[in-house]
Amino acid sequence: YHADSNSISYTTLSRFSPVRLLSPSNRKRILVTGGAGFVGSHLVDRLMLLGHEVTVLDNFFTGSKTTVSHWVGHPNFEMVRHDVVEPFMIECDQIYHLACPASPPHYQFNAVKTIKTSFMGTLNMLGLAKRTKARFLISSTSEIYGDPEVHPQPEDYWGHVNPIGPRACYDEGKRVAETLTYGFHRQDGVDVRVARIFNTYGPRMNPYDGRVVSNFIVQALKGEDMTVYGDGSQTRSFQYIHDLIDGLIALMNSDETRPVNLGNGDEFTILEFAKLVRELVRKVQIEDGIDPATLRDIQIVHRPMPTDDPQKRRPDTTRAKTTLDWQPRWTVRMGVEEMVRYYKAKLAEGSL
Ligand code: NAD
Ligand code: UDP
Repeated sequence: YHADSNSISYTTLSRFSPVRLLSPSNRKRILVTGGAGFVGSHLVDRLMLLGHEVTVLDNFFTGSKTTVSHWVGHPNFEMVRHDVVEPFMIECDQIYHLACPASPPHYQFNAVKTIKTSFMGTLNMLGLAKRTKARFLISSTSEIYGDPEVHPQPEDYWGHVNPIGPRACYDEGKRVAETLTYGFHRQDGVDVRVARIFNTYGPRMNPYDGRVVSNFIVQALKGEDMTVYGDGSQTRSFQYIHDLIDGLIALMNSDETRPVNLGNGDEFTILEFAKLVRELVRKVQIEDGIDPATLRDIQIVHRPMPTDDPQKRRPDTTRAKTTLDWQPRWTVRMGVEEMVRYYKAKLAEGSL
């Protein structure tokens, strides 16, 4: 097995997968809130393969039991249906607090619930960390920088967020979650880590959660029009999931208590990115033996720009490089090809 490499196979993982045998002093009891979501499930895989005891806490709002079902029955694994808005008691050594919907359509579906999840959920998990003396890591976001006036964004930039717009429930929720985190750190000595995650994509992303990478790949694979919002001149920088998981685990096990950006510096306009995805989907289909003459020409169509959509976004990852010795290893081309193959297999088995 390759717990610390990039070659985990999604198809062969099971509760019978050999996990590393750790001595009791090295084996941690780890709580992962939001562990049934996209990022959480990849983190759970890695922590399980590393030999830790993992408890997933999730209310399955945007996550699904199937993302981690391959571990059900393993003695090191436990899954609990629980809403983090309510307190939860467990003995643990580390908490990765990820629970929160991350895609704009999902987090805007019930804005008040999103803020409650960020505020009360983080308060409850910090209370748990205080009681158990567990180390606490929160998955914050590049959205705390809002529509940035500084480019690329370093951690000491305070951000430019509309506090009353449709994205505020998420952006301000995460900002207050960070404030709470440092409040507990200063007042109660809770050992904290803050990851500011930039746009991340990869297999197991809910194909219909509305985020751009999954939208574009699914549209192109199905031969549908690709929907670019606005003129497509806004930029994003895309990070592959394995790089993020490396970064999260490195951060948790480092001494860095300041916020750390985790993201890939490869910046694309959304229009450029749509063209790249279209090219890569075509490449994979041809490599898989499909006659190019039978492939439909995919059109790129424009749709209205959502309110407060940030114009540009790229991480300054100097801090992660210097303090964690971390940098992304997956190029966007490599990652998108992997994801195309994953969705293609899902489409073939009829589950997309
Ligand atoms: P996701 O929607 O796939 O996962 C979120 C998980 O949290 C789901 O399993 C969901 O059911 C669970 N959840 C939501 N509300 C809950 C609640 N009240 N109680 C318990 N569980 C709850 O999203 P993701 O992309 O995996 O994001 C995970 C974390 O990473 C989030 O905190 C998100 O803000 C952060 N993040 C993600 C990205 C990204 O690009 N994927 C970027 C920045 C930050
Ligand atoms: N976007 C797009 N077409 C889509 C989905 C999203 O053009 O089908 C754009 C969206 O307007 C934004 C960017 O892609 O500018 C990233 O959107 P996403 O929802 O993935 O993440 P976020 O806006 O939170 O960075």
